[in-house]
Amino acid sequence: MSHAVLKLDKAQLNKIKIEYHPYIQSNVPQGGLFVAKVEGCTITAYKSGKILFQGPAAEQESSRWSEGETVLKTKEVKGRKKHAYLPPEQVGSKSMIGSDEVGTGDFFGPITVVAAFVSKEQLPLVKELGVKDSKLLKDPQIIEIAKDLIQSIPYSLLVLDNPKYNELQSKGMSQGKMKAKLHQKAISNVLEKISGPDTVEGILIDQFCEPDIYFRHTNSQPGTNPPIYFETKAEALHLSVAAASIIARYAFLKKMDDLSDSVGLPLPKGAGPHVDEAAAKVIFKHGVDVLKKVSKTHFANTQKALKLVQQKRKG
Ligand code: MN
Repeated sequence: MSHAVLKLDKAQLNKIKIEYHPYIQSNVPQGGLFVAKVEGCTITAYKSGKILFQGPAAEQESSRWSEGETVLKTKEVKGRKKHAYLPPEQVGSKSMIGSDEVGTGDFFGPITVVAAFVSKEQLPLVKELGVKDSKLLKDPQIIEIAKDLIQSIPYSLLVLDNPKYNELQSKGMSQGKMKAKLHQKAISNVLEKISGPDTVEGILIDQFCEPDIYFRHTNSQPGTNPPIYFETKAEALHLSVAAASIIARYAFLKKMDDLSDSVGLPLPKGAGPHVDEAAAKVIFKHGVDVLKKVSKTHFANTQKALKLVQQKRKG
């Protein structure tokens, strides 16, 4: 079992707790602050500032918090699980299809998945358009860059809307499996769009699960041509992943605008307490059936919103 440990300050831990809001567990060990369970990883935060990630997705999950301008002090990663599908070192200068998804942690709105092809020859152009790690870009920049990108490179955008998501989820399909199938479909769409697979030197998936699990979910085989690679934070490794991420975020933002218009209320991103409030407003205005059409109903936000509505009706 792989695990990772980060040491963070209190503000950071509180921020993380809000992010894991739908996944918080009731059992907290001694000295513990909170426990959250997501697919492939259990997260335990301690009052001491230590936060422990355990399970096959430990490395990936902990990496969400160890980047950017966060106030990280130390980082120790033990038992780091290397896999056989890491991209080669010079991957950044190759002709690659990259894929990424948006919306998996957001209560409101769909999951959007994009695969995009950036050839060697197009790398300078794509860079010129301002493509970089989308986490470093603000929404208006994302929109502006995405509008140029969709005119310039072959891509496939898939949107899993809320009714379909909820149907699949209620039938027992994990979010991991949904993502895997969407990535696979988007990638095969792009392969069909471009002149011949010969021009593609590789496929790079921004890793959201262990490669073995991806192959199982998609009923596919490793060792295909072009080769398929997985790595976390792949946005930084090849512009195709960064471009895919930007287009996926752009599509997500547009859908969120549409959904907000449809219910006549602004629907926030994320899954924190402000989302519970917004969900309660949707129930108040339209009823719970309409909420289900614009959200991922298995998130704990649904129950929390229903409670808020109850309290308001009593009060
Ligand atoms: Mn990603």
